[in-house]
Amino acid sequence: MIIQLTSTVTTPEKETILQQVKDLGYKHTEVTTQRGHYIIGIGKAEFDIRRLGHLKGIADIHRVSDDYKLVSRKWKVGKTVVDLGDGVVIGDGSLAVMAGPCSIENEAQVQGVIEHLVGNGVRIMRGGVFKPRSSPYAFRGLGIDGLKMWYAQARKAGIKIISEVMQVSQIAEMHDYVDVFQVGARNTQNFNLLDELGKVDKAVMIKRGISGTIEELLYSAEYVFAAGNEKLILCERGIRTYEKASRNTMDINAIPILKEKTHLPVVADPSHGIGIREFVAPVALATVMAGADGVIYETHQEPEKAASDGQQTLDFEESARLIGQLRRAHALLREF
Ligand code: PEP
Ligand code: MN
Repeated sequence: MIIQLTSTVTTPEKETILQQVKDLGYKHTEVTTQRGHYIIGIGKAEFDIRRLGHLKGIADIHRVSDDYKLVSRKWKVGKTVVDLGDGVVIGDGSLAVMAGPCSIENEAQVQGVIEHLVGNGVRIMRGGVFKPRSSPYAFRGLGIDGLKMWYAQARKAGIKIISEVMQVSQIAEMHDYVDVFQVGARNTQNFNLLDELGKVDKAVMIKRGISGTIEELLYSAEYVFAAGNEKLILCERGIRTYEKASRNTMDINAIPILKEKTHLPVVADPSHGIGIREFVAPVALATVMAGADGVIYETHQEPEKAASDGQQTLDFEESARLIGQLRRAHALLREF
């Protein structure tokens, strides 16, 4: 059960509500986010919701049978819209396109990508400065100085930044230079990181774990929400299966399933999902038709020379073509 409290709830009103929750045999947790104040009731007993619903101090009350609560659509039927400011919005029914290199490499590269994005009407640039790499000898990113250099150029161009945060200590140093913190597939269940991201006033995009279930992704989002941050986006990026013909298996199924289970926006990452440059576009288009609120993919002026993930990175010509196709696919979907 989720009880959303009014902003004017008094202490005696809250005590009465909590007593009723306890009388039902429910355990409870209080959650205060940047947007609201909730009581989460955990229990099995059947009860007439009107028994509580009339109490003073309650704005809304819903029975939520899912074990994740705050991210469930059973509680909030309307969609969560994540507003990054300056008219850049994710989850409002438009298609959010986020593109950029796997890794931020140098100023000329960043400048080239920004020009490409601006020229094609894309407002959000992706890029890693802290890179999780399977091998410790691979390029591991430019770090915070790279992020600051990127930020200076992106801001001049009106471009928003999404970048991966790998550990708690990076949150504070990255905070002023990102618009969306990305939680990578290797960190989906880093619960300390999720808790800390619950305390920031920036959006967070959580990728599905490499071998993670859809439910586990929802629980990860629940961590951030319950710790205070409702500005959440989920990302399907492919999972590890027995299939070896592609880097990962893009789970297109996850998109409609997530959209049915949660009110949060769902974004697809076809680059990591299939890992093969020639097939990024068809998979990206499939995710749009499956209902994704956005697509995030890798692009670079010279994919062959990219410091990481070049094999799945589009050049600017391919990227421009894909952007046009994505927009047409999204428009077509609205006709159905
Ligand atoms: C990335 O976005 O470059 C990345 C490392 O993604 P993932 O966490 O999905 O592997
Ligand atoms: Mn990558």
